[in-house]
Amino acid sequence: MILGHSRILELLPRLKAQTLLFTGPEGVGRRTVARWFAAGLNCEGGFPPCGSCSSCRQGVLSDYLEISPEAETKSGKKARVPQIRLEQIAPRPASGQTEGAGENVLDWIATYPRYKIKVVVIDGAHLLGEPAANALLKVLEEPPMYARLILIAPERETVLPTLVSRSLEVAFAPLPEALLRTLSSDPDLLAFAEGSVGRVRWALDNPAEFGKLTGRTDGVIEALSSGPAQTLEALKLLLELDGALPYLGRRLRQAFAPQSPQYAQALQSVAQAQDALAAYVGEDLVQTLLALRLSRLR
Ligand SMILES: [Zn+2]
Repeated sequence: MILGHSRILELLPRLKAQTLLFTGPEGVGRRTVARWFAAGLNCEGGFPPCGSCSSCRQGVLSDYLEISPEAETKSGKKARVPQIRLEQIAPRPASGQTEGAGENVLDWIATYPRYKIKVVVIDGAHLLGEPAANALLKVLEEPPMYARLILIAPERETVLPTLVSRSLEVAFAPLPEALLRTLSSDPDLLAFAEGSVGRVRWALDNPAEFGKLTGRTDGVIEALSSGPAQTLEALKLLLELDGALPYLGRRLRQAFAPQSPQYAQALQSVAQAQDALAAYVGEDLVQTLLALRLSRLR
């Protein structure tokens, strides 16, 4: 089921561009709409997909390829910034059958569709490594007639200009709270979701994890007035959880007045911590600095 985005669903079937760029906040439904679009392109009856013809019953799987960043590095370590690697876009040069190699875009798109249109989704176009982006560019320049490509990214500015210039942007807005309220009426949960249906579903599916995340974030915000040591302790607990820093950023926005200097500093501190972690600065150092900066705000 697709929540909201009715104007986009109306518009998409009429677009002729072979490459689309879906932008918008994470969890707002960009990938769900991409799957719906692929289903409609291949449905015997066209749009909206009927759900019962041969292609629809296949669940678009045969003519649909989704590429997303890999969270693990080659050495098997969890990467702090996941990346789409060259091997996911193009076959390795001069390799026979490579062990453990997944599907790549170039090989997959070279054969005809089983039904009507092959759809490739690059979910995380802003996380394409440079070699991967260059390889993808070759496809975007001359895609086969039977192919459509969908790039997904938070904002067009985060994607390489060479890719953006060859695609048509379709912008997704955060969902209005009234729509999300059809899924949950919990005010904490709706504040956490901030227009993202993905986050609502995650919180509903993982109530214990969600409770931990909000509880530990409350802990950090309460600790701010007690000084850096307490803040650091609370931060360490919070940062054990996935997605904690972005959520802390959103909560700090609510804790300080939007026009106040504290608000700007709080957001800047969180953004710097995120950048530092992405740049492999030691976690302890990042946490200590962040605790210091945040506790000075109160
Ligand atoms: Zn159908």
